[in-house]
Amino acid sequence: EIVPVSELVNAAVEAFRTQRMEDGVDLTVEVSDGLPALDVDRAAVAGALLNLLQNAYKYSGPDNRRITLQVRGSGKGVDLSVEDNGVGIAPQERNRIFERFYRVDNLLTRRTEGSGLGLAITRRIIETHGGRISVQSEPGKGSRFTIHLPAGKA
Ligand code: ATP
Ligand code: MG
Repeated sequence: EIVPVSELVNAAVEAFRTQRMEDGVDLTVEVSDGLPALDVDRAAVAGALLNLLQNAYKYSGPDNRRITLQVRGSGKGVDLSVEDNGVGIAPQERNRIFERFYRVDNLLTRRTEGSGLGLAITRRIIETHGGRISVQSEPGKGSRFTIHLPAGKA
């Protein structure tokens, strides 16, 4: 299914906003012009993006939460990144968080609910589409997850 990137972004952002109506979060969405359409399972990829937004929300403190969703062209495809100002992820945890049922032990994971499946599912969805997911993080400062998806054959 050939899908404009903006539709994927809107679906994920709308679902996120619906869930988070009462709580404080400052979400900035930046989508570049002229992005290629993607040949993807719309619901699956929007769900993957939603999980990154939910994580950014859950693993940031309750005060002064800021999340930036940025979408840019990259090579022949698209990069979608979700950046937060949350707890961050230590270097030795950065591969493990993509394992099924793995949750980092910290105050915010103890205070939030989760199965530890979100990122495992997200990675599976992205790799099934020939894409990649990566993470950069600074403990105590925040994290940035980036999904790269190749352009669809329109
Ligand atoms: P689920 O998504 O299944 O409800 P979950 O959020 O715990 O549960 P994942 O989305 O797979 O599971 O994330 C795994 C773990 O990685 C989290 O429990 C958390 O410890 C860590 N993590 C994920 N995203 C972030 C983030 N943006 N900042 C800090 N830690 C994160
Ligand atoms: Mg999650």
